[in-house]
Amino acid sequence: MQFLNEYRFNTMTVTHYFCRRCGIFVYFHSRYEGENTYVVNVGCLEGINPYEITSKGSKRKIVLIS
Ligand SMILES: [Zn+2]
Repeated sequence: MQFLNEYRFNTMTVTHYFCRRCGIFVYFHSRYEGENTYVVNVGCLEGINPYEITSKGSKRKIVLIS
């Protein structure tokens, strides 16, 4: 967390986190209608190949960005 900068845009309801060193988008957090939502840039996860991730009918929505 020490290398993250926090930004809020427009309605200020979503908090975006960017790497302080290289500027890459890491993840965002929102709390829409009482539900926490996180969108993570899987390209930032060490040891994870984003092209090998699959999703099979989970209730949770998985959004992949890279
Ligand atoms: Zn970085």
